[in-house]
Amino acid sequence: CGTVFSGIQPTGIPHLGNYLGAFSNWVKLQNDASSQSQLIFSIVGWHALTLPQNPKELLHSRHDMLAALISVGLDPSKVIIFHQDQNPDHVELAWILSCITPIGKLRRMTTWKARLAASRNANAESEVDESMLNTGLFTYPILQAADILAYRANLVPVGEDQQQHLELSRDIADTFNRTYHTDLFPLPQHIITPSKRILSLKDPTSKMSKSAVDVQSRILLTDEYPQIRSKIRAAVTDSIAGITYDPAGRPGTSNLLTILAGCTDTNVSDVAKRYETKGHGQLKADVVEAVEELLKAPRTEFNKLRGETKYLASVSESGLGKARSISQRTLAEVRRLIGLSRMP
Ligand code: ATP
Repeated sequence: CGTVFSGIQPTGIPHLGNYLGAFSNWVKLQNDASSQSQLIFSIVGWHALTLPQNPKELLHSRHDMLAALISVGLDPSKVIIFHQDQNPDHVELAWILSCITPIGKLRRMTTWKARLAASRNANAESEVDESMLNTGLFTYPILQAADILAYRANLVPVGEDQQQHLELSRDIADTFNRTYHTDLFPLPQHIITPSKRILSLKDPTSKMSKSAVDVQSRILLTDEYPQIRSKIRAAVTDSIAGITYDPAGRPGTSNLLTILAGCTDTNVSDVAKRYETKGHGQLKADVVEAVEELLKAPRTEFNKLRGETKYLASVSESGLGKARSISQRTLAEVRRLIGLSRMP
């Protein structure tokens, strides 16, 4: 029970990692008849701006992401789906929270450290330090905290990659509560997703990502059977005979097992046992079929929904209205607590 909040960036067509690591879990939460929770899913456009975006493509991606969320099974009559960038309460709260968050805590974020390292590698000739990176890239974990806390959400289903940011959100909520002698914010907890991290098909040391340069590294919701087949066949594995689940020693092979387990909703060690005496060819062939089976129906639905502009606009409007009715109440209380209430 309580409020569940999660978000996804409109940075491209969602991929198998988003599906197994986020969407399937969101749909399960929605369909859990015993749950009384309020579920809120947001397309977080302001987060997309932390990296350079082509404005026309961003607009398309926002639209497509809404279609994608519905096509994977989220029902706008049961859950709130809305565009974060249409609700200014998030940025107002983010500003307030940034005023109680020390810089040192943001510097400890591994996502920030990774960005800094990537930028140093890309500019080996010149001296790169953090003063050259955008401020938004540094402070966006505070905006994430605001996204969650604006709804006083207590449960956040996100992949493993987001765990440290969620810890920061908890820390910020706690600091606010203690500073202003309130229990306004619950300390949001992580809901672990069964398929924690789907890795890149080309570089199984990094996660499958919408914004990775190599398009062969991810399977998209729009990929048809021949594309799925060629991407899985070309997936990086190893030359060790037999199949074992060993994420550290055999990341590529283990990633295929994780994908197969995720697509068939089975335990990964049970799947691994079935393939002990088989080879990579058989494993890849079975992964292709399992991915196609999983994505076939949502793909068809997505291709249909993308064209239904009026319907999508109405879903977005109604979701925004419901979201704001909650966040406005939180913001009114926050303003009162910090001494910035509107005058009567
Ligand atoms: P980008 O590459 O643009 O940063 P992304 O593909 O990493 O995007 P997000 O929009 O940041 O995806 O994340 C949306 C949700 O999908 C989050 O809950 C995140 O944890 C989950 N997710 C993203 N990538 C993966 C992955 N490879 N495996 C499992 N879950 C993932």
